[in-house]
Amino acid sequence: MHKISKLAVLTSGGDAPGMNPCIRSIVRTAIYNGLEVVGIRRGYQGLIEDDMFPMGTRSVSNILNLGGTILKTARCLPFRTDEGQEIAYQNLKKRGIDALVVIGGDGTFTGALRFSKSYPDVAVMGVPGTIDNDLYGSTYTLGFDTATNTVIEAIDKIRDTADAHDRLFFIEVMGRDSGAIALRAGISCGAEAILLPEKETAIDDLIENLKSGQSKKKSSSIVIVAEGDKHGGAYDIAKLVEKQVKNYDIKVTILGHLQRGGSPSAFDRVLGSRLGFAAVNALIAGKTQMMVGLEANYIKITSLEEALTQHEFKLEEDLMKMAEILSI
Ligand code: ATP
Repeated sequence: MHKISKLAVLTSGGDAPGMNPCIRSIVRTAIYNGLEVVGIRRGYQGLIEDDMFPMGTRSVSNILNLGGTILKTARCLPFRTDEGQEIAYQNLKKRGIDALVVIGGDGTFTGALRFSKSYPDVAVMGVPGTIDNDLYGSTYTLGFDTATNTVIEAIDKIRDTADAHDRLFFIEVMGRDSGAIALRAGISCGAEAILLPEKETAIDDLIENLKSGQSKKKSSSIVIVAEGDKHGGAYDIAKLVEKQVKNYDIKVTILGHLQRGGSPSAFDRVLGSRLGFAAVNALIAGKTQMMVGLEANYIKITSLEEALTQHEFKLEEDLMKMAEILSI
């Protein structure tokens, strides 16, 4: 086990609320333990371009409440090449950095694991930061709770106008490969239907369901569509439905990037703080090529290898069934 002395941190992939509380926790936990800390701007791009700066306890003051990431993030093609990884390594070495915490999603972890296998003298720890909540090894990922609350707030407002006009709204939420936000938001807002990428949507069943709602005198209907639905986005589904469902004024709302922004919820602030704290302590304990997560409210450490190979999209059938029953 080699003792670490200088740690770098970066955020990568899509930004997620909760990344800032996590950065704060990493910086302060590391300094408390006598480590030097370096912040890397714009994820792997900054690592390759040597865009780094020393961080102290005051450099993370008053960021708990900020959405986004003070380190900024990027998608970086050169890090996918051997040459890019070599440059990244040389940049870390010349600064004497021997540990790296990466906050991001599965792409970020894939890059980190590959890097760590080529250059094992830099210890690597992953923190799951993505609003999609689609990583193995953590029940919740950073940003998912805040994003879901943002979606709920927007849908509540749409429900008011839908109700006033007897409207049918198709609302598209983020989740190209994951229906996690759509499902939680659907349950929370009493959506009449929830369409997820994990399940092929039976358009005929959806139409039947909406007609049945009309016959039961529902004054409005909300259908939540995750952006990865196989039939396309909310506009495509609305077109398929509108020919057959009469008497409803059909509207479409795409919530888009507002779902990523905003002050992190209490849950994401605590989660970010806990995961950052655990990541630094795991590195100090000599662990590498791992990911810190939260399972059953306890910190769990999973190897990046396992997190990436076990990664699969699971449909939460029990929650889907419950949502259907509760919206009759
Ligand atoms: P999100 O879930 O929000 O999309 P992510 O971490 O999955 O987050 P990606 O864009 O897939 O986001 O990955 C982030 C970065 O990780 C990429 O821009 C790239 O620099 C690096 N990366 C991804 N896959 C690889 C790979 N196979 N080899 C090296 N680096 C990779």
